Amino acid sequence: MPFTALGLSPSLQKAMENEGYKKPYPIQIEAIPAILNKNDVLGIAKTGSGKTASYVLPILMNLQGNLVSKNRHVNVLVLVPTRELAIQVGEVFQLFGNKLTRKVKSLAVYGGVSINPQMIAMQNVNILIATPGRLIELVENNAVHLNDIETLVLDEADKMLHLGFKEEVDKILNLLPKKRQNLLFSATLSDDVNEINQILLHNPSIIKIESDEDHLDLIDQVAYFVSEEKKGPLLRYLIQQGKLKQVLVFTSTVYKADNVANKLRKNGINASAIHGKRSQAARKETLLKFKNGELNVLVATDLLARGIDIAFLPHVINYELPRSPKDYIHRIGRTGRAENPGEAISFITPEDKHHFKIIQKKMGKIITMIDSENIEF
Ligand code: AMP
Repeated sequence: MPFTALGLSPSLQKAMENEGYKKPYPIQIEAIPAILNKNDVLGIAKTGSGKTASYVLPILMNLQGNLVSKNRHVNVLVLVPTRELAIQVGEVFQLFGNKLTRKVKSLAVYGGVSINPQMIAMQNVNILIATPGRLIELVENNAVHLNDIETLVLDEADKMLHLGFKEEVDKILNLLPKKRQNLLFSATLSDDVNEINQILLHNPSIIKIESDEDHLDLIDQVAYFVSEEKKGPLLRYLIQQGKLKQVLVFTSTVYKADNVANKLRKNGINASAIHGKRSQAARKETLLKFKNGELNVLVATDLLARGIDIAFLPHVINYELPRSPKDYIHRIGRTGRAENPGEAISFITPEDKHHFKIIQKKMGKIITMIDSENIEF
């Protein structure tokens, strides 16, 4: 199906051509007409499926026909769980919003940076992309009013309903007008998502593209049985011997992420850490360098396990196993995307063995385990 069949304006079609988009992705074929039609949508699709454009484009179109700018009263609210995702989604709105004949102003707001510039920039904003905590701060400072919201998007909804976000999200939902369009996107259809779907959505178009589980076959998974002390040398060996150029290494704690990155650097490997304790500017710069290929190894906590789109990420290493099988799937889902095969390596200590069995059972896959004792490094 060509883009012309989706009901988008010629200027947006041109903008997509300029981006090198040749044809719509499956989620776009289904979500764009439904959103243009002002339906509620439940989209189950992983990052990398093109889900951002699937709501950005029709939202921009709908606003074109109906743009009433009341100062500090935004029309569209997109809630996202992380600062990085706020920036990424903000960029997609900017990219396409700038191409329209009637300009639509969008702004991404998130914590970890000073609130004042965001309060000033809020003038005449139509589309606000926000993390929940910062949005509440802005509302409390009267910098933004949510009573004219026509469309609400919950991106990465499964995450938004966890990790202590629920209370903030409920608070925000109470500030919105009852009559509005609700768009909910999630990588998985968990019980929580189902619950909010029932509360939030009215007769929604349900679009299920492909789950992270479905694309596991694209990923070559392997495990190394290794003692805690030998993990560092094994990691260096795998990176150096395999001449790996773009590796995402996951640790469970901020301390460990810094520690692993420092040790890699001491051994001449171009590595840096990213986690919630680093400043927003440093996180942004590090992620950009990693995406550009200037940084070979990014060591991250689970902050990065979801939502972030890196076009081609060949290697993911679980330096430490995540606690839940779901997190394991999200982490390794950073690779093997967009039809590119990827490799996911997990380090398994004697203590992890039982837990790793559970993960494999949940995935319905047996993963080859190599004993690192048999490798010379
Ligand atoms: P997302 O799932 O929204 O994170 O998008 C994943 C990637 O796909 C982004 O880099 C988009 O620029 C890209 N993309 C989205 N739609 C298309 C399309 N129709 N054709 C080619 N690339 C696309």
